[in-house]
Amino acid sequence: MTTYTKEQVSKLVDGKLDWDTTLRMLAMPKDKERFALYLEALQKKVSWPDRIVLPLGPHLHIAQSAQTKQWVTKCECGHEFGDYRENWKLNAAIYVRDTEEAMAEVYPRLMAPDTTWQVYREYYCPACGTLHDVEAPTPWYPVIHDFEPDIEAFYEEWVGLPVPEKAA
Ligand SMILES: [Zn+2]
Repeated sequence: MTTYTKEQVSKLVDGKLDWDTTLRMLAMPKDKERFALYLEALQKKVSWPDRIVLPLGPHLHIAQSAQTKQWVTKCECGHEFGDYRENWKLNAAIYVRDTEEAMAEVYPRLMAPDTTWQVYREYYCPACGTLHDVEAPTPWYPVIHDFEPDIEAFYEEWVGLPVPEKAA
């Protein structure tokens, strides 16, 4: 596993685009228009025809399948993690940093957490190796399902755009 950079890790740890951030960003009236532009820009970056419904991270999206209209969690490379309601992390390649040595590869020595109390779990795309998320839980904490957004309400109340069609 050498596809991540220190910079990527710190970005994901510090300022990842989670649901709270997205809502906060959209709480400002000006930014509602920006969401449509943002989606458009993201769509241009991907080579697949499926429509992006909601970004979950810089390279991970909920997308509407062009063929089935089902909503799936999907990597920018095209790899699918399954239904959007399922925890995509369970279908990711997971790397756990739970030793001092493994921590030292990424974090400066004095900043590295004590692995008795905290580990770093990194979630990668099994197809392209992109790092999609990092968690810093206590070692025994179960895999965290970040959020289950109410996408319909989000489109109607926040963005003011029609909700993309969705097959069950
Ligand atoms: Zn990928």
